[in-house]
Amino acid sequence: VRTVAILGSTGSLGAQALEVIERHPGKLRVCGLAAGRRMGLLADQVRRYQPEWVAVAGPEEAADLRARLGAEVPFRLLWGDEGLCEVAAAPADVVLVTVVGARGLAPTLAAMEAGRTVALANKESLVIGGGLLRAALARGGGRLLPVDSEHSAIFQCLRGTAPAEVQRLLLTASGGPLFGRRLEELRDVTPEAVLAHPTWRMGARVTVDSATLMNKGLEVIEAHWLFDLPFERLAVVIHPESIVHSLVELADGTLLAHLGRPDMRLPLQYALFYPERVAGGFPALDLGAAGRLTFLPLDWSAYPCLRLALQAGAAGGAWPALLNAADEMAVEAFLAGRLPFGEIAGVVEAVLDRWGGAPAATLDEVKAADGWARRLAAEVIERR
Ligand code: MG
Repeated sequence: VRTVAILGSTGSLGAQALEVIERHPGKLRVCGLAAGRRMGLLADQVRRYQPEWVAVAGPEEAADLRARLGAEVPFRLLWGDEGLCEVAAAPADVVLVTVVGARGLAPTLAAMEAGRTVALANKESLVIGGGLLRAALARGGGRLLPVDSEHSAIFQCLRGTAPAEVQRLLLTASGGPLFGRRLEELRDVTPEAVLAHPTWRMGARVTVDSATLMNKGLEVIEAHWLFDLPFERLAVVIHPESIVHSLVELADGTLLAHLGRPDMRLPLQYALFYPERVAGGFPALDLGAAGRLTFLPLDWSAYPCLRLALQAGAAGGAWPALLNAADEMAVEAFLAGRLPFGEIAGVVEAVLDRWGGAPAATLDEVKAADGWARRLAAEVIERR
């Protein structure tokens, strides 16, 4: 039995991971759960899966969870960043990090320092702390497995391919729910319209980021750290159907593509069982039913967030952390109705423009840059 700790168990990906685990009784077992919100759902999960470790956001949530569960389930109850890191480092066979946003970096680092196999669905930790994570991975001697669909696809295509044979990686982007509409038309589009993603079932922030293509920019930075390729060898192609999850271009010009149904449970299952590939009862992709697959070159002018992300990624240092923090703030403001959709990129750019430059070689320095960007982003949003 493989034991799994899920950080972010009450979110969309956490729930999908639990669905995968339920498909494999006797092979996968939940040993740890961590969630910041939705204590009622977490209490249900604790009752059902009986983990040894549970972490919540703070003492209030801990009291709430205890009150819901009484003394019926014995488990170690932890809270705060420290508690989250403790569950991350606990002796699980796989630590699945589905925490959303920059908060995912500290527990991912803790898991890597402890030498765990980390299935990483939190792209922000690689975006803002890629160098830190690579160093921690080398020290801890663990393993890093991508869960993001594009990176899982590339990871699978790269099996059996020598690094010298790889020319470029091509990440596909659906373009999100607003694909095909002009930038000017999108200025005042509503959160409801943006959250209606045509092909993927994901959390709110990543869905908004899919519409601006910020998500794809973060994924290119993520790919840079995962696969150790320079930015000029990472490309983006628009593919609205989300059937080809990404491609690897080889030295002779051949493309290897990964095709599958757009279902996050598939990359989750692949990471949880890696290196084994198992049947999970999912239907195979039906090509006839999938119909026409289209690919389009990227219209850079339509996606200022993507351009900002690639600039920040190539600049390195604290730039990706600033980009991510400003975007998190802007997306939050958009979802709360405090910022027009069309001004998300402007907020991010305004924050990047004001950065004087300082290193981001330690977790504290990354946190400081992140905090600075959030404060400035809040001011910028307030002024607009
Ligand atoms: Mg993705």
